Amino acid sequence: MRPAIFTLSLDFELIWGTLDKPKWPRFLPLCRVERERVVPALLGLFEKYSLPATWCVVGHLMLEGCDGAHGDPVRFGMDPGTNEGRAPLFYARELVEHIRSCRAPQEIGSHSFSHAIFSECDTATAEAELSAAVEAARAMGIEPRSFVFPRNSIGHLERLAAHGFTTYRGESPRWYDHGQCPRLLRRTGHLVDILTVAPPPLVKPRLEANGLWNVPASMLFTPAFGVRKAVPVGWRVARARRGLLEAARRGGVFHLWLHPTDLAARTEAMLGGLERVLRLAAELREQGRLQIVPMCDVPKAWETGGRG
Ligand SMILES: [Zn+2]
Repeated sequence: MRPAIFTLSLDFELIWGTLDKPKWPRFLPLCRVERERVVPALLGLFEKYSLPATWCVVGHLMLEGCDGAHGDPVRFGMDPGTNEGRAPLFYARELVEHIRSCRAPQEIGSHSFSHAIFSECDTATAEAELSAAVEAARAMGIEPRSFVFPRNSIGHLERLAAHGFTTYRGESPRWYDHGQCPRLLRRTGHLVDILTVAPPPLVKPRLEANGLWNVPASMLFTPAFGVRKAVPVGWRVARARRGLLEAARRGGVFHLWLHPTDLAARTEAMLGGLERVLRLAAELREQGRLQIVPMCDVPKAWETGGRG
């Protein structure tokens, strides 16, 4: 019997996740809700269910402040060059401290420094992003092990191990979820899965030639913006619960992921939905049928848990 494992990874980026899009100011109110309501509520849920999640944090959020000069005027053109008190959607060291002091220990990984898209940037940019992200983490006494690529867009993989990373979140095995799939088709495929409450795939960690463990995603806890607003919260919950039950029944990793921003529309309903998922995970763990580990510990849990 393969081990049954649940892992939850979060892409924590506040406004950095959308600054390259013309519509980024539309995300400001959502990011405010994320900061004030969603992150504290998530930490409350993780404490309640003793759940060790993995927060992959944009490195710039770990700064107390900056002068806005990071060498690249294009990517840092919107950087206000101030501090957390004045621009709390560009800096979030205080929140990272809250995550770190959660009574259920949380993993803090990296989501690059400024949310650069790794499949599109050159090696020098990737290298600068990784160095700055690790430096910002180390300044807080954090050694990040897990990496999530901005927009899940994989590139420069061979550079990760040199910066101390051991694990990254790979593409889910769904047919539409690979780098070459056009965006519209990808979104349509994802929407069909949601509307049919398709069971999410279970995954297994893979050690790659570059020395890294790939822990592929199983399912996004879909945000409630845009057309997806019309999808009842319960459908997401039903899919995620199917993933947990399948993992417990036949072994495998159920890897759920989301951005805290994804819970900033229809916040209370979405948080309530996520809580139903976490409650089931905790019940299955209680029954000895499921392990819950942060992303960096999935390979160890998999290897020591026996394989069928
Ligand atoms: Zn800055």
